[in-house]
Amino acid sequence: MRHPLVIGNWKLNGSTKMVKELIEKLHNELNNIINCNIAIAPPTLYLSQAKKALINSNITLAAQDVDINLFGAFTGDNSAEMLKDIGVKYVIIGHSERRIYHNETDELIAQKFSILKSQGLIPVLCIGESKEENNAGKTEQVCANQIDKILHYLSIDAFKNSVIAYEPIWAIGTYKSATPTQAQSVHKFIRNHIAKQDPIVAEKIIIQYGGSVNVNNASKLFVQPDIDGALVGGESLKAHSFISIVNTASIIKKVY
Ligand code: PEP
Repeated sequence: MRHPLVIGNWKLNGSTKMVKELIEKLHNELNNIINCNIAIAPPTLYLSQAKKALINSNITLAAQDVDINLFGAFTGDNSAEMLKDIGVKYVIIGHSERRIYHNETDELIAQKFSILKSQGLIPVLCIGESKEENNAGKTEQVCANQIDKILHYLSIDAFKNSVIAYEPIWAIGTYKSATPTQAQSVHKFIRNHIAKQDPIVAEKIIIQYGGSVNVNNASKLFVQPDIDGALVGGESLKAHSFISIVNTASIIKKVY
């Protein structure tokens, strides 16, 4: 049985006040959740503040990106070692916003995957197709390619204790989620694709859905057998929405 995972990706949003207030609410309301792993990914600048605010909480920390180097003359970057040092557990890599606005390639993302594994951090590998690729019926091909690029550099063992987030680009921040049936079909394809390399890794890997998840569509998505939680963007900035999405995952995916 897979334990669901819900991560809030705050993107470029936050302030010391907001971090304090939002985490206080999440901390109070989510402390009894045992059936769902929970993480928040504030901007790097606020990770240490968030870590302090999360003492005695079951909410863990995620970072939104990492550099491929561990130290040295790389102005502005943050290393996996530093993220680990301040208590980060998960690191989102390959988000479409980084692929698009920072020209991140699959090769670079594979290097990020590798450095995270070397430091014992958990990569959350975002994959997914554009609207045009979706219209052209290329969704499966795009997802398979993005996974294969990692497998070209690393063995299937790298996917042990890693997370995949299927995030169709056309569904991110658009209020137009993939339908539960569409998402389930892609998640099943991704799991089967991994299973060709190693069925045990495939059975265990957490595949989150991301793309306009909200309080209204969460339950319909989470009842799908291959959707193991969510990477939540916009709605993770609203305490009541994020709390409700986590509660929904916890109830629907209850592990007996
Ligand atoms: C995301 O950025 O990872 C995301 C899924 O955003 P949203 O939930 O706002 O679509």
